[in-house]
Amino acid sequence: MTAPTPSAPLFDRLVIIGPGLIGSSILRRAHENRAIARELVASDIDAGVCARVRELGIADRVEADPARAVVDADCVILCVPVGAIGAVAAQVVPAMKHGAILSEVGSTKVSVITGVLPALASRPDIAFVPSHPMAGTEYSGPDAGFPSLFENRWCLLTPPEGTPPDAVARITALWQAMGAHIRTMTAEHHDRVCAIVSHLPHLLAFTICGTADDLAGETRSEVLDFAASGFRDFTRIAASDPTMWRDIFLNNREALLEMLDRFMADAHAMAKAIREGDDTVIVNRITRGRAIRRTLIENRQA
Ligand code: NAP
Repeated sequence: MTAPTPSAPLFDRLVIIGPGLIGSSILRRAHENRAIARELVASDIDAGVCARVRELGIADRVEADPARAVVDADCVILCVPVGAIGAVAAQVVPAMKHGAILSEVGSTKVSVITGVLPALASRPDIAFVPSHPMAGTEYSGPDAGFPSLFENRWCLLTPPEGTPPDAVARITALWQAMGAHIRTMTAEHHDRVCAIVSHLPHLLAFTICGTADDLAGETRSEVLDFAASGFRDFTRIAASDPTMWRDIFLNNREALLEMLDRFMADAHAMAKAIREGDDTVIVNRITRGRAIRRTLIENRQA
């Protein structure tokens, strides 16, 4: 009797363009679990990042030229900042093999998809499956990644209409192998959801840290001295990468400004309640906040 043949990996050659926090975490997980891809290739615009990925040994091959990196790959994932995804797609799509899958991990979707579609206009054979792993830290670069980053986190897929179901199934299987749970939605819905759960909180964190920093002299030093209170949690979020967050704010402008307007209306209502001593409104608001925190803990997303 012959031994059973192990099933083929999900992808033969998987290419990560931009092996920073997200890209290097995908590489690390796929390096641990060779059922994901037989060969892992990485490419980055920064020679220092390429050298570091080689040192870390998390890719089988590192190519400085992205167009060379994607040759013969059956899946290419763009893990570069949102503002660069369209341009990188234009660089790599012409070199991709017939029938390959193109994916990306950008934090916004409508403008990213709009930016990528021109590159795909002459390549209807390439399936495009945008994805957004709802996981991250305030750190960036290839040293920041770790293989369990996506464990028990959501990954949102926003395949444009007409995307072949087989390609969506393969990207779903990829993220499941990363430990993530999958939800599929439209790009528009994605951008509104992420505006409230991620982009607005970052805007608030950057702003409150800026406000505190603007306060002169004594107050400012006290902010730093007593940062063990709520302010410290804001500083962790505010430590995030400036290029990445500039791109997210500018690329999800409409949804973010809509959520900011709603937030400001609610903040004004809270200010009115405090001014007028309306303890019912104040207590209601705090109680709802506590309930949301409890739900997150129950869902193991805290
Ligand atoms: P990161 O650690 O800064 O990694 C991005 C990498 O892409 C860097 O090595 C960067 O090189 C490289 N890069 C930039 N432009 C490039 C280009 N034109 N061609 C090739 N490589 C290029 O960023 P990240 O946090 O992993 O984020 C990557 C993507 O994931 C972004 O689209 C972001 O919106 C999305 N995302 C991030 C998080 C998060 O929490 N961090 C969560 C979910 C999704 P340089 O450093 O030299 O610029």
